[in-house]
Amino acid sequence: MASYDFSSARLCVDDALKAGASITLEANASNYVRNVLRLQEGSRLLVFNGRDGEWLAEITTAGKKCTVLLLVEQTRPQHGLPDIWYLFAPLKHARLDYMVQKAVEMGASLLQPVITRRTQAARVNTDRMRANAVEAAEQCGILALAEVENPRKLADVLAGWSEERVLVFCDEDAELGDSLRQLDACRGKPLAVLIGPEGGFDPAERALLLEQCFTLRLSLGPRILRADTAAVAALTVVQAVCGDWKA
Ligand code: SAH
Repeated sequence: MASYDFSSARLCVDDALKAGASITLEANASNYVRNVLRLQEGSRLLVFNGRDGEWLAEITTAGKKCTVLLLVEQTRPQHGLPDIWYLFAPLKHARLDYMVQKAVEMGASLLQPVITRRTQAARVNTDRMRANAVEAAEQCGILALAEVENPRKLADVLAGWSEERVLVFCDEDAELGDSLRQLDACRGKPLAVLIGPEGGFDPAERALLLEQCFTLRLSLGPRILRADTAAVAALTVVQAVCGDWKA
């Protein structure tokens, strides 16, 4: 694994990144660099855009309204993400923030909020989700940006599913099984992990999920986990068995 530069600040930008390019940060990013990261003219930081790798940049102008960065050199080439989607019943506020950040840290390439019968979050702020996904990438040096989809109903997600992608259905009612063996059979296949709401899946949803040919029913152990805990547990076992945690 590339040695991780924990000391330098990281900033996600939209601009194309190439040697010698200058980037002008708009007001919010400029304020963040100056007042949150407390950087000034001459300071250096790492920038990425999810497409062109990671670049060392130097602040050439740090004004009140705008900050200008000059790209010095590429520090890491662009990397991809494992083809693992994270589907989840959206939680409320801080728990959703946490869940989005953990899914990104765990390497999910796409986040799909799924509305189920017992979903308690009335509406989902996808802009906030995207901001959390970017912040997690900045903090963890993840160069590829997870896609954040708009919420969709479970039945619609299943109706439009492409069957080569295995849907790992984390079912709180599932019997204890051999999760490692079950997942080992999925190695090399596109995957998705589904975590339900605080109230769990309702029987009709469970029946709909279990009748799909692409569903893999998975137990996450003998205890009921909180939804945000289940997110990390499920992505851990998936990454460890058939994701990018294996050399
Ligand atoms: N009421 C708790 C837990 C609800 S279960 C809460 O406040 O979050 C939330 C989801 O986590 C379930 O729908 C399932 O997807 C997953 N989950 C939790 N425990 C699990 C287990 N032992 N096995 C499989 N999935 C589990």
